[in-house]
Amino acid sequence: MAKIILTGDRPTGRLHVGHYAGSLERRVALQNSGEYDRIYIMIADAQALTDNAEHPEKVRDNIIEVALDYLACGIDPAKSTIFIQSMVPELTELTSYYMNLVTIARLQRNPTVKAEIQQRNFEASIPVGFFTYPISQAADITAFRATSVPVGEDQAPMLEQCREIVHKFNATYGDTLTVPEIVLPENRVCMRLPGIDGMSKMSKSLGNCIYLADEPEEIRKKVMSMFTDPNHLKVDDPGSTDGNPVFIYLEAFSRPEDFAEFMPEYGGLDELEAHYRRGGLGDIKVKKFLNSVMQSRLAPIRERRREWERQIPEVYDILRRGSEAARASAAATLCDVRTAMRINYF
Ligand code: ATP
Ligand code: MG
Repeated sequence: MAKIILTGDRPTGRLHVGHYAGSLERRVALQNSGEYDRIYIMIADAQALTDNAEHPEKVRDNIIEVALDYLACGIDPAKSTIFIQSMVPELTELTSYYMNLVTIARLQRNPTVKAEIQQRNFEASIPVGFFTYPISQAADITAFRATSVPVGEDQAPMLEQCREIVHKFNATYGDTLTVPEIVLPENRVCMRLPGIDGMSKMSKSLGNCIYLADEPEEIRKKVMSMFTDPNHLKVDDPGSTDGNPVFIYLEAFSRPEDFAEFMPEYGGLDELEAHYRRGGLGDIKVKKFLNSVMQSRLAPIRERRREWERQIPEVYDILRRGSEAARASAAATLCDVRTAMRINYF
């Protein structure tokens, strides 16, 4: 069976280091591993509209930002198909057939959607499109016969729901769709990177992000203002590294060579953590180190982004070509789906 990846992001803002840790870095590694036959990376504008219906211009403007972030991180259009969701209308048709296989009660149980409804104050009036976006996401994944979906942990309920839809479809109409597997980050802390405010998840909608395109001074300010252990008041106080976002970021982003370059007095993260826990290590020193680490990780991304920013027509061309290729692939699956459902009339 062909090994195929489908993954993507909502164009609701620029991409941040949570995206990088949770999915982007892995996508680039999988892309360059050469183990996959096809890789589809979707800019989910239709999904972004489900909670931004009043702001189509925001969604539209962020498509190019997300595309630039992809290219800056090393997504290679020669190896990966980058496309815009709404340019593949076959996905909407697939969604409508899958809707008949899912109950309202099942959608209501989806914990990520539940949390997002609360976050957006949608409790009193949930847009139907938003409520049903896990179904449209199942259409996105299955349209490309994806076997692997590299995403952060918040997407686990979506993948579960997608697999249920595939099983239901195949049981009802005969073996047609491919069952996808979730590919979570190897590093536990990357599955759901907290925001700089220490909130549960760094998220564009919460404004607690370090963006991939942030300038060095913005990165420094954000790192130096980060939430840490609130009980670590004096340098000599013992501190907690558990749930402390500064240490979580160090676990996610630091490399052994960063210690050699910026913190040679420590052999590695374990030693730094041990010192913080027993007391005598100040937050400012740790934050300065984290700043050096983040600057090192983000500088090459920012530089590549600048190069692509000078080639905007070429970036739109990549999106156009990617969308055409994606559309052909989705249309083939839709044809199989209609045949299986016996609604291919002519
Ligand atoms: P929005 O607030 O608009 O939902 P978002 O920041 O949650 O934006 P998405 O576009 O929904 O970003 O997510 C894109 C991908 O990035 C998904 O695979 C998701 O799992 C992953 N992701 C998003 N935020 C994080 C995070 N803080 N940690 C790890 N992975 C994340
Ligand atoms: Mg999200």
